[in-house]
Amino acid sequence: MISPASRAVPLGRGAFGFDIVTELPNSPTGLGIGGRRHGRTGVIHTPHGEIRTPAFVPVATQATMKAVLPEQIKDLGAQCMLSNAFHLFERPGEDLVDAAGGLGKFMNWDGPTFTDSGGFQVLSLGAGFKKTLAMDVTGLKSDDVIADGKTRHAFVDEDGVTFKSPLNGSMRRFSAEISMDIQHKLGADIMFAFDELTTLMNTRRYQVDSVERTFRWAKRCVAEHRRLTEARSGKPYQALFGVVQGANYEDLRRRAASEVAGLDFDGFGLGGAFEKRIMGEICAWICDELPDDKPRHVLGIAAVDDIFAGVENGGDTFDCVAPARTGRNGAIYTRDGRYNVMRAAFRTDFGPLEEDCDCYTCTHYSRAYVHHLLKCHEMNGATLATIHNERFFVSLLDDIRASIDGGYFDEFRDATLHRYYANGSRG
Ligand SMILES: [Zn+2]
Repeated sequence: MISPASRAVPLGRGAFGFDIVTELPNSPTGLGIGGRRHGRTGVIHTPHGEIRTPAFVPVATQATMKAVLPEQIKDLGAQCMLSNAFHLFERPGEDLVDAAGGLGKFMNWDGPTFTDSGGFQVLSLGAGFKKTLAMDVTGLKSDDVIADGKTRHAFVDEDGVTFKSPLNGSMRRFSAEISMDIQHKLGADIMFAFDELTTLMNTRRYQVDSVERTFRWAKRCVAEHRRLTEARSGKPYQALFGVVQGANYEDLRRRAASEVAGLDFDGFGLGGAFEKRIMGEICAWICDELPDDKPRHVLGIAAVDDIFAGVENGGDTFDCVAPARTGRNGAIYTRDGRYNVMRAAFRTDFGPLEEDCDCYTCTHYSRAYVHHLLKCHEMNGATLATIHNERFFVSLLDDIRASIDGGYFDEFRDATLHRYYANGSRG
């Protein structure tokens, strides 16, 4: 059982580090310079334990995964969790989480934790709550399609972002310094620098300006992080990752990565909008420019093929809300693709959600039961579906890690993707 108070937590910067275990060999089809493939296995060391990479990071937006307790997250094999600085700033407030002993202690999770910077949520408000990260925006290219002045809820200036709280409509402010202060108080092992999120619909001119602004904010984050680390020297060391933006432009991604690599970050976030068809290329461009000896987190991706592309081209950790969010609506991930257990055909199906799955749900419950609970909007339906889907992604990343260490990544990737997409599965 989890007992956060019983564990001695190392302090100081030396408590954080990264070791590479196995590197993927280069390939004629490698997307990095000279056929380089940046994929590798490794171990991230944090004050609250190790993360063996590549690893899947379940998302606990509001200091909880919806419908699933931390004990269950641990039982399904997850190594770490990611929460959201913006949501925790809104409720319950970073001071309360600090008083509780930090994010992990507050939510009874004694393993490693991440917080994202809040930039994504704040800037999403600038898009007027519309879907901001459309992966296919062929033919659309305008800073205006995102939201005009009337529907816009966030405004970017040189210093930061002013936005209207979605909770109560009051005006709020985020900046590099404010994000660092919030994240230090939340106390996660890995934090992200405050960045400006753009969408694939923004013009190139805007992307250029945004990358430059994000770099200026990154420098301010490093300075404020250093100040806060000294001011809070009795606390476990919190690592800070710089975020690389630049949308789908190779020159911008490379420039952003090489600039961020020159700052005193502990690791890096590969952020922003990824156009699906060049997901692997974008990761390769960035990782060509980053140092090999620091970990890289790919922020918010959602599909099985994207995870393989991300791992092959240098991603170490991956967060994704899709398995929990879609699971609550009945979407079930399996090695043979995704299906919806709410379909009438499963009403009388007493088999598990997935044959041969070792998760708690599949060991004890049937499709018919999960179908029934979700149809009745019973909360345990969401719990059982989420446990299975999170286990699917955790074990997928475990298997990918084993395939790199075992020297059979290419064969494993081809066989897994062939089987997963054979039935026309999306996502
Ligand atoms: Zn299962």
